[in-house]
Amino acid sequence: MDRGSKPAVLVTGGAGYIGAHTAKALSERGYFPVVFDSLSSGFREAVRWGAFVHGDIRDARAVADALDEYGAKSVIHFAGLIEVGRSVVQPDLFWEINVAGTVSLLTAMRERGVERMVFSSSAAVYGQGGRGALETIPEGAAKAPASPYGDTKLACEWMIEAQCRAYGLSAVALRYFNAAGADPSGLIGEAHEPETHLIPLAIAAALGEAKPLTVFGDDFDTPDGTCLRDYIHVNDLAAAHVAALEVELPAGAFEAVNVGTGKGNSVREVVDAVGRAAGRPVPHSVGARRAGDPPSLVADASRAKELLGWEPVCSDLDRIVADALRWEAQPAYGSGRRATDRKAQPAS
Ligand code: UDP
Repeated sequence: MDRGSKPAVLVTGGAGYIGAHTAKALSERGYFPVVFDSLSSGFREAVRWGAFVHGDIRDARAVADALDEYGAKSVIHFAGLIEVGRSVVQPDLFWEINVAGTVSLLTAMRERGVERMVFSSSAAVYGQGGRGALETIPEGAAKAPASPYGDTKLACEWMIEAQCRAYGLSAVALRYFNAAGADPSGLIGEAHEPETHLIPLAIAAALGEAKPLTVFGDDFDTPDGTCLRDYIHVNDLAAAHVAALEVELPAGAFEAVNVGTGKGNSVREVVDAVGRAAGRPVPHSVGARRAGDPPSLVADASRAKELLGWEPVCSDLDRIVADALRWEAQPAYGSGRRATDRKAQPAS
């Protein structure tokens, strides 16, 4: 791609799900995304905008070289491990890649004078929260991660904040709620291996590509007994990253911001929405609760609007499901291995 005078933005993990959608949004906004990805879980086919550098964030020299080559003065950092269950059995790996990887990245950024960072954080930093079951969660809520994955995200936030104070970097950590959906172009979408998320699994069950869905518990203290989550369209998430890149902040400032809609949908509502979109009901049964699942995780999304001027525009549940279904019916990459994994998933 011809770069022209476009400002370069280093996007670590830009071959992954949210990273690829953000690279597209950056390109549409006039930036030149430089995707830096090890391809350990991302897809080369997802890198369609800007440049691609094959590298590992723990390799500070490779990061510094990429920053030099493209003259990037800002970094959006997605690279890391995301599977909550795996973090329980391999916590050392999560600390090594997510935390030590971020230390190494920050060192290269400091040496090269990077001025702005946007960090991919998570509602997992709140854990069960300790608030009333159906209350929305503001950024100031207690931080009590329920998994080593959540611990690593919180540790990274602390470290980035300290780096801001010490060296004048300004940074925004975006705490995502439930990312879902796909770009309507059909070029990029969600492809995790193995897939554990509700919407892709419900779609795969409806399409007959996977075993029937198991609803993890219907005896929670929620309106219909199933868990409430705040589903946010991946393109709304991508737009939040661009807003966080551009927001005016003084040198040394650190902000942590929820990215959600402020509205919860239950597992049952998702199953019904997928059935409507697919034109056939989702085969499913109700099983036991999944360990660690809080009854409700819904953002108080007011800070994102106040600080970033950001609001969701395409996160209506039917829109999310329609876009996810279009992708799942014809994924541009990731389908072969994923289909095998789906069928190989143990009954839960
Ligand atoms: N869920 C479910 N069956 C599945 C996968 C997920 O009932 O096969 C439920 C899960 O218990 C949670 C919601 O769907 O209440 C969203 O789960 P997901 O794994 O997509 O995201 P999480 O909220 O865990 O980040």
